[in-house]
Amino acid sequence: MTLRVTVLGFSGSYAAPGGACSGYLVESGEARFWVDCGAGTLANLQVHLDLNDLDAIFVSHHHPDHFAELPIVYNTFKWYLHRSNVPVYAPASVRDMADMITGNPTADVFEWHVMGDGDRIVVADTEIWFARTEHTIENLATRYSVAGQTLVYTGDTGPGWDMAAFAGGADFLIGEATMLARQEDPDIPHISSRQLGERAAQAGVGRLLPTHIMPGNDPAEHVLEAAEAFGGTTELPMIGKRFEV
Ligand SMILES: [Zn+2]
Repeated sequence: MTLRVTVLGFSGSYAAPGGACSGYLVESGEARFWVDCGAGTLANLQVHLDLNDLDAIFVSHHHPDHFAELPIVYNTFKWYLHRSNVPVYAPASVRDMADMITGNPTADVFEWHVMGDGDRIVVADTEIWFARTEHTIENLATRYSVAGQTLVYTGDTGPGWDMAAFAGGADFLIGEATMLARQEDPDIPHISSRQLGERAAQAGVGRLLPTHIMPGNDPAEHVLEAAEAFGGTTELPMIGKRFEV
């Protein structure tokens, strides 16, 4: 196995009925990563993974729809599983926010790694790059590579970020597509499915998964719109769905 990803939640801002906010389980041959801890994703993560087997957590930014389960899983590790040194890779503000919400320093459970734009790390068999996008706070997109296979996750971004440069040649792109084209608004720090599809085409990615869908919108409509702009295989996000990269 090289890389595969399981959808734990893909709603933007708040969860649609029966849904969950942003979160993905990324698995390589040697490691299991929880990528974004959006509200509702901890329950879904445990459907697929024993939390004792989680190797690291990546958080794009501290907006609650990407972060809210981090102070919760702290409880799990501290009081139930008695795990410490759980690596968390995130912008500095994520650590500050986790410490504030739990009411104490979380370093007794989490091994913090503050990441920034342009950083690159290696965890087990996986090489990971970080890039800051355009958002209201520091959001880091991540790029995971194992044995020549590459997955990119944008987190949140406005239209001003050069997504194509960071995602260039990726096999699989999980991109934010909060709105439909008819809902585009320059005052909203997000992009539409149409805008995501255009960027995926520029980047020459293999397959595209539109996510961070605004509750009330039909994900299938997002897929159709993204596919038209992308011109390549565009997958429908569903909780529990697993993709081989
Ligand atoms: Zn955000």
